[in-house]
Amino acid sequence: MSEIELTDEQLERYARHVILNEVDEEGQLKLLNAKVLMIGAGGLGSPALLYLAAAGVGTIGIVDHDVVDVSNLQRQVIHSTDELGQSKVSSAAERMEAINPEITIHEYRDRIGPNNAIDLIRQYDLVIDGSDNFASRYVVNDACYLLKKPLMSAALVRFEGQASLFKAFESDEQPCYRCIFPESPDPDLVPRCDTVGILGPVAGVMGCIQATEVLKEILGLGTNLAGRLMLFDAMDMEMRSIKTKKDRNCALCGDHPTITEENIGKV
Ligand SMILES: [Zn+2]
Repeated sequence: MSEIELTDEQLERYARHVILNEVDEEGQLKLLNAKVLMIGAGGLGSPALLYLAAAGVGTIGIVDHDVVDVSNLQRQVIHSTDELGQSKVSSAAERMEAINPEITIHEYRDRIGPNNAIDLIRQYDLVIDGSDNFASRYVVNDACYLLKKPLMSAALVRFEGQASLFKAFESDEQPCYRCIFPESPDPDLVPRCDTVGILGPVAGVMGCIQATEVLKEILGLGTNLAGRLMLFDAMDMEMRSIKTKKDRNCALCGDHPTITEENIGKV
């Protein structure tokens, strides 16, 4: 059931949103009625999920097959030491419920893949990708494009992060994730947090950028990251963005697409 008016309690809880002219009661109701799916409850998912829950995004789904490991705790701030061995989705959901008991959280203790991506993503308005591998990113990108759902993507390595919003279904100019990264690199050559490390708060910065962009998208505010790749370099403490464009030969969103609901994630 969609909410049509804020209660007195909600007016207090979300007072710092409601006081913003750009948000107001109407915007807070949009957040309460929004459905966001988070892929991964790790370095990006931790801050993103905390802020989405606190902001009152009414329905939040979390997909993650993993359990909390002690090496996660250096950056995955939604989990705690006493939750080691517990599934990440339930650990994350508990913390989110403690922050904001009025939101609905759906836990999917599963790997995102070609078998479940379409069915899961169909149920949400917007998707945040916080996965740490190319196979998942392609699957999520393909499903989001085919289902016309905005995709807030980000990636991390060492002291750097990048982020973009993909809505290629909306425009002939904007790229999808595949347009920018058309080929999955050799897994042995791809730097991952597991193998090359990551400065903890860099994950926090990028997860917060994802949450910020998603709230703006729900509220219809400002200029989004569609058609731009934002690059964050913690070493020089610089943020810049570069323009991105559609690849006419893209297998998903180009002139002669070969990817359909039947073969999403194909590389
Ligand atoms: Zn594309």
